[in-house]
Amino acid sequence: MPRKPKAPWRRPRQRPPELEPPDKPAHLIPLSEPFLQGNEWTYIKTCLDTQWVSSAGSFVGQFEQTVAAYTRVPQAVAVNTGTSALHLALKAVGVAAGQGVLLPNLTFVASANAVRYLGATPFLVDVHPEHWQMDLELLARFLHAECELRAGRCMHLSSGTWLSTLMLVHVLGMADQPEAFVNLAREWKLTLVEDATEALGSRWQGKALGTFGKVGCLSFNGNKIITTGGGGMLLSSDEALAARARHLSTQAKVEGEAYFHDEVGHNYRMVNLLAAMGVAQMEQLPHILARKRALALRYRQAFGSHRFPKTAASLAPNHWLTTIRVAQRDRLLRKLREAGIQARPLWVPMNQLPMYRDCRYIQEKDVSAALHAHGVSLPSSAGLRPEQQDRVIDCVLKLL
Ligand SMILES: *Cc1c(COP(=O)(O)O)cnc(C)c1O
Repeated sequence: MPRKPKAPWRRPRQRPPELEPPDKPAHLIPLSEPFLQGNEWTYIKTCLDTQWVSSAGSFVGQFEQTVAAYTRVPQAVAVNTGTSALHLALKAVGVAAGQGVLLPNLTFVASANAVRYLGATPFLVDVHPEHWQMDLELLARFLHAECELRAGRCMHLSSGTWLSTLMLVHVLGMADQPEAFVNLAREWKLTLVEDATEALGSRWQGKALGTFGKVGCLSFNGNKIITTGGGGMLLSSDEALAARARHLSTQAKVEGEAYFHDEVGHNYRMVNLLAAMGVAQMEQLPHILARKRALALRYRQAFGSHRFPKTAASLAPNHWLTTIRVAQRDRLLRKLREAGIQARPLWVPMNQLPMYRDCRYIQEKDVSAALHAHGVSLPSSAGLRPEQQDRVIDCVLKLL
């Protein structure tokens, strides 16, 4: 009789599999790698040793307080992804089915998806060719030409849609005149929500991006400026709003009562294990920012400032991901790939994606399409070594 194989889940004390780094050739230069050279191991080990791995535990609060202090906002709510943060932010400011939400056409798809999760309609606004951010003048012209204030609300006349919210995305961790967007939003009774998922560490006149609107959202995904593997956070000065977002992130469970939930909530909490990593990453943030800045300046010197989004004097960007404009994008991408260098085109604009093709796209010159057609993101990891950057620069210069 053949021996019955032991059920794998009953094997006592199996030796853990050898943890191999992901399969990648030694010469490959990645686009954006995490930088994990601080206390990540130590703090995560503390969670494992104490068994505080899940949604309770002191690192979550500590991570929230650290980020709140760094960005100088009173309230921070940690969640499991940046996308969850956006979803909760829109829900907490009251975005509801049928309303319109204005956002840039050039962004990562999660910005638009968060709008759709609530049954609201994205109104896509083209970006500016100089700084690649939402075009303020274009937006203002649209509001004046096509919208009207009625009983303190903004209506888009031809579609009969109430526009409730303006989602400002800080594309590539940059920004343009955020306070002018604050004023425009106030004038048109729009709630300002910031997608600052790429912008931790960036400041405009000393004020952190993500703290201009009613609520701002951060991401700690693996490719962002700091990472918890996956994670996000809401920032706000509004205590009631933060409390509501926290409530919604924890299944809308009523404090102190067993299994009483007062609305349909979500399971969006960040776990202690990952918050531990976040606390360690925040200790590294100044160092990461300095490294990224040095990389970005070197790229600028090599290729000329005209290839980069323009940086206003008021902006201290985090230099999250260096992206340049080139005539022949696909040729450059191919050359870089052949040289073992990871690079990416900028996102496909929202109006070119099947689920957003029918949305209103406010544009005059379709700048988003041009930036997508010519934008290439280059390796920007904080750990990128000088000789690696030399290889990237040499490869790009051959094609410029
Ligand atoms: C990364 C990112 C998000 C989503 O964050 P996740 O943590 O990956 O869910 C949303 N918007 C923009 C612009 C992003 O770059």
